[in-house]
Amino acid sequence: MLQGRSAVVTGSTSGIGLGIARSLAREGSHILLNGFGDSAEIGRLRGAMVEEFGVQVLYSPADMSKPAQISAMVQLAAREWGSVDILVNNAGIQHVAPVPDFPEDKWDQIIAINMSSVFHASKAAIPLMRAKGWGRIVNIASAHGLVASPFKSAYVTAKHGVLGFTKVLALETAKENITCNAICPGYVLTPLVDKQVDDQAKVHGIPRDRVISEVILKSQPSGRFVGVDELGALTVFLCSDAGKSITGASLSVDGGWTAA
Ligand code: NAD
Repeated sequence: MLQGRSAVVTGSTSGIGLGIARSLAREGSHILLNGFGDSAEIGRLRGAMVEEFGVQVLYSPADMSKPAQISAMVQLAAREWGSVDILVNNAGIQHVAPVPDFPEDKWDQIIAINMSSVFHASKAAIPLMRAKGWGRIVNIASAHGLVASPFKSAYVTAKHGVLGFTKVLALETAKENITCNAICPGYVLTPLVDKQVDDQAKVHGIPRDRVISEVILKSQPSGRFVGVDELGALTVFLCSDAGKSITGASLSVDGGWTAA
């Protein structure tokens, strides 16, 4: 379905980003992987995608808190493939603390990585998409882009900002065969959430399985985690021809969380 396309997926060495990158590669898109991690493990992930899906896979270690590195990452993909057809802004981090105790450097880092990087990467990619007359931007926001939880001030602020930016960019590109949408997942069991399970287990003094059912999934009416493959399938749909009139949307994949 995406044969010959090229996709940049930020924060794709792990979790949701990796799952989305693999879903796009399965449909034939070349992939630029980005994110941190052990270089041997990243090499293994790249090799596995090349072998399994027969696409080209590049890697950029660009830090999503550094605008110059973000633009260089997009240019790397453009040099290799002539354009960037698909941009998935997914990189994100979390920090949990009440506002009076929230460290300033964590606030700045979360705003930079989870929100401002979406602007910087899109700014670099839009001229390439315009030149080609086709483009798809998918921003991985969160249920926390629509509703709040205590102790996640920077994260909730950044994700609400991503939804605002998504709407603006959708309007600016509406006539150009370029779409820009946000996916708002509920809880997905990735390393980011796994760490929260451990932290909450310590705070509440209860075992991990009780943290998952009584704390983490309490707000998710389905009572189960969202699968990474579900987010990959939705991203592929948004990038397909059938998705061409969906733009400026915030698509919840949260087991009913934000319906409550
Ligand atoms: P994860 O920790 O498994 O993966 C995060 C990825 O981002 C990794 O590849 C990491 O190396 C990369 N990354 C972190 N800081 C970076 C930086 N400065 N520059 C470049 N890459 C960086 O997390 P995840 O759960 O897969 O989260 C991915 C996205 O999905 C995030 O934006 C997160 O907010 C969002 N999200 C996650 C959940 C969930 O329940 N897991 C729910 C809603 C939204």
